[in-house]
Amino acid sequence: MNEGFCGWCGKPGAEGDHATCRQRLSSIDPPRYCTSCARRMVVQITPSGWTARCSRHGTFRPGVSGPAAGAPPDPAKAGPAGDPTLSLA
Ligand SMILES: [Zn+2]
Ligand SMILES: [Zn+2]
Repeated sequence: MNEGFCGWCGKPGAEGDHATCRQRLSSIDPPRYCTSCARRMVVQITPSGWTARCSRHGTFRPGVSGPAAGAPPDPAKAGPAGDPTLSLA
């Protein structure tokens, strides 16, 4: 992994052991810190999981290390409460 910061504890990824952190993040728990800048993110629990928003780097979702990283479109998320990056016609 080449992430700058741990999304769980907010410390630099190269510093310390983040095995437990990754385990938490790979399950249902949302990250609390942006992996790019270690800012505290705004986390929202959604019916399909969660979203975590960094004011500089955008929205993170489960299974995605960053915005628009090739997640398959989810028709269940086509509601108006979604985020602007999800544009289903
Ligand atoms: Zn960590
Ligand atoms: Zn960020």
